Amino acid sequence: MLFTELKLSEPIQKRLAEKGFPEPTPIQAETIPLALNNRDLIACAKTGSGKTLAYLLPILQFVHEKIEKGETHGEDGVNPPVALVLAPTRELVVQIAEEAEFFADAAGLKLATIYGGVDHDKQRRELAGGAQLIVATPGRLLDFLRGGEANLSKVVRIVLDEADRMLDMGFIDDVRKILSKCSPNENEERQFSLFSATINFSALYSVWEFMREPEEILINPEL
Ligand code: ADP
Ligand code: MG
Repeated sequence: MLFTELKLSEPIQKRLAEKGFPEPTPIQAETIPLALNNRDLIACAKTGSGKTLAYLLPILQFVHEKIEKGETHGEDGVNPPVALVLAPTRELVVQIAEEAEFFADAAGLKLATIYGGVDHDKQRRELAGGAQLIVATPGRLLDFLRGGEANLSKVVRIVLDEADRMLDMGFIDDVRKILSKCSPNENEERQFSLFSATINFSALYSVWEFMREPEEILINPEL
């Protein structure tokens, strides 16, 4: 299979070509068409299998279509974000944001990168400046939510990366608080995905109420 066979817009295809990625990895080939069709996902594939682009590409496509249809802002708008990726560590958030940043211009997309241990000001400006996609650790994002500085009410695309860790005791309360601030399941644009290297979802039940008949995709998961 080739990326050109997937329903991804030309600017995104162009960036993929620049990366020298003609073919999706197996997890990308399985999950991207489902995500583009609004299916919720539980996707497991081992480390290094390309999970980041597996969830970022459908988000980029979704935002790109919204911008093309004039349903969200371009440059100077102040509409709230429509997509959210949560990850457990600052390092991961930065890595995911870098990967997204490479495609962001092509998709006309702005990003807010939210993590702890640094000053709030730059992140506050990104949130206020019309970012369509938030990439965040739960703790710092909750800070901004409590302060009324983040509005998740229009978020319809949600991903938990390293979902096995995000559903651990240490994170689950924060994650649930954040999910409850996003657009509700009933919204037909809502799509929620869990991505992980393992299938150790000890607490999957704790986010079940936020999922809609998820499709399970397992490709050589780790133990
Ligand atoms: P995972 O999250 O599953 O551990 P990553 O998303 O970090 O994996 O991807 C691992 C590496 O594979 C990255 O360097 C990424 O740029 C690269 N990669 C992703 N998709 C492809 C592809 N379709 N073809 C070639 N390399 C890819
Ligand atoms: Mg990963």
